[in-house]
Amino acid sequence: MLPKENRAAVFNGPRSITMERLPLAQSNDGSAILKILSCAVCGYDVRVYNEGHRKVHPPIILGHEICAETMHPISNLGNGNLISEGTRVAISPLVPCLNCYYCASERYNLCNNLQEIGSSVNGGFAEYIKIPLNNIIIDGIVPIPDNITNEEAALIEPLACCLNAHLRFKSSHTDRSIIIGDGPIGLIHLQISKLYGMKTIVIGKIDYRMDQAKQLGADIVLLNSNIEDSVRSIMDSTNNVGANMIIVATSNPDALDLALRIASKDSIISLFAGMPKTKILSLDPNWLHYNEISISGSFSSTPILMRKAISMVSESKINLKKIISYTYRLKNIEDAFLATEKYSSFRSIIHPYE
Ligand SMILES: [Zn+2]
Ligand SMILES: [Zn+2]
Repeated sequence: MLPKENRAAVFNGPRSITMERLPLAQSNDGSAILKILSCAVCGYDVRVYNEGHRKVHPPIILGHEICAETMHPISNLGNGNLISEGTRVAISPLVPCLNCYYCASERYNLCNNLQEIGSSVNGGFAEYIKIPLNNIIIDGIVPIPDNITNEEAALIEPLACCLNAHLRFKSSHTDRSIIIGDGPIGLIHLQISKLYGMKTIVIGKIDYRMDQAKQLGADIVLLNSNIEDSVRSIMDSTNNVGANMIIVATSNPDALDLALRIASKDSIISLFAGMPKTKILSLDPNWLHYNEISISGSFSSTPILMRKAISMVSESKINLKKIISYTYRLKNIEDAFLATEKYSSFRSIIHPYE
């Protein structure tokens, strides 16, 4: 029996969230209704909560790092399979148009008319979620094995995004990486970087996070104080070479300036985090040219990368438990946002049913 009502944390505009009971009508448009088991709070959610976002038109339910359970069999999958009722799944937030140039080559994260669960389509800070047909068609609902917890499953989505940043360059010869940022995303990048055999430096600002970076295998952890000091300590610890893979995993605009200063020749600078609109990069084109520097963006992920992320966690290659701090009830979601904003914890997870 499917529910008729959905208790949800509705975002009404900056600094305004209200708990509401919304109708949950099952329609015959091919969408699916799932029960949310857990939904993680992303830094993006907190930025939207504080300032709004061009992609987000309130009222809407945020939350895109989702673990859910199917409430009815789901067909229409691109792979021809059927997901049976009662299956635990992770969900890709992508709802692509399936008609554009990028969709034709299955680069759904780049779709020209992309809708996103938790941004422009109602998301996971609720008891239930309705997943649109176009997500189901691209296999956006991905079953998870028993050895992955509901909390870890919520973090499959950010892990898949981090993999997207790394795998864009899988044919390059990167062997030294520097991760700027010691938050949950930085520590996922650290683990991927170590898994791919790179000597890895993490630059951070917060003691408990930097300790965790050491525990997760960082070769060197450095305090990011000011740009000049950070450049000096990185150059000192790399024989004045820098690194050939630099991942900017913080929205602090200074991190970009730092990245440009610590890039070695033949290096890739990956802009993983969104930046304030006011940030402008000024670059010497000859520096890029003569040193063979690549600057790359990376946005979201694809269902294929979600599957890869699930295998990596299931095979204990990546530890997501180490970047989960607290769980919160849905009605206390603003406390979880605050903890995220104040950097007082790693990922906070919302449990709608407790
Ligand atoms: Zn996220
Ligand atoms: Zn498209």
